[in-house]
Amino acid sequence: MTVTSTLSQGKALEFGAAALIVCDSVVRVFRGNGVEVQALQGLDLLVHEGDMLAIVGASGSGKSTLLGILSGLDVPTAGRARVAGHDLTTMRGQELVRYRRSTVGFVRQQSSRNLLPNLTASENIALPLALAGAGRRERAAKAAELLSAMGLVERADQGPAQLSGGEQQRVSIAVALAGSPQVLLADEPTGQLDARTGEEVFAALRTVNEALGCTVVIVTHDATVAGQVRRAVAIRDGRISSDTLRRNELNAEGISTSSEEEFAVLDRVGRLQLPSEFRHALRLNDWVRLTLEDDHVGVWPEHGVGTDAEAGR
Ligand code: ADP
Ligand code: MG
Repeated sequence: MTVTSTLSQGKALEFGAAALIVCDSVVRVFRGNGVEVQALQGLDLLVHEGDMLAIVGASGSGKSTLLGILSGLDVPTAGRARVAGHDLTTMRGQELVRYRRSTVGFVRQQSSRNLLPNLTASENIALPLALAGAGRRERAAKAAELLSAMGLVERADQGPAQLSGGEQQRVSIAVALAGSPQVLLADEPTGQLDARTGEEVFAALRTVNEALGCTVVIVTHDATVAGQVRRAVAIRDGRISSDTLRRNELNAEGISTSSEEEFAVLDRVGRLQLPSEFRHALRLNDWVRLTLEDDHVGVWPEHGVGTDAEAGR
């Protein structure tokens, strides 16, 4: 693993000035019954327009909390979040309504929460447009366009109960796209599907990204999903811990090859998460010795000190 300071480059400008999605030290604390849960603990993330990105992390790592904030349903406790020029910490009223209607689209894990059971696929897609005041002809045209993009033309007049799980999620994606959003957010969209059906939904999400030009952010606990996208970001304890980029290149023989490199993310105050396998391999606990070399930083185990320090704290 290489360590790079991708997030701190180009800081003469405002952090992430050119990015479509900017999370800058985002904190979300939930309080209740005298307990406090720090779901997001200073999360930094930049996503550029046209990206397709997976955010991968274990259950409880803060993925849904992050998507809740990006979709405008929730607000950070501290830090800054901006999407397509909208400041998510201060947005309210009409701006918030317009943001949720036409800047972001949201797909939930259970299609039963994305679709109304007594409406057909086509009517489900037209509904958000009707709520936004679009006329009959515009609604019909948009529904037809999205059904076609999702490969569902023949399913237009069927209700959710008549559709397979994969088809239901593709209709859910079409519903989320009805307002022509710049960003599509999907929370575990394949979580209740078998692997093959999940791939079909991923193909639909790629179409959204490549053919419709929408920026796509998918959250999942399934690490194998990371192989389906160019960029996968790992979230751990409410913070981004690594960023994996996949590049397609032509080799000397002109054959396309795919290479993958995982980067640890150094945040803006210099914090870095060491992978647990590194920590276990060298028994790195509590205290480590850091050395500055010409071209790298060394991290050395310091056995025996950590536990005493822990006890004395
Ligand atoms: P993930 O989607 O990665 O499984 P979540 O974002 O749902 O994780 O949750 C992150 C942490 O925040 C968990 O510990 C969860 O219990 C807690 N949490 C999430 N939502 C709430 C809430 N509304 N009230 C209290 N705690 C919450
Ligand atoms: Mg979740």
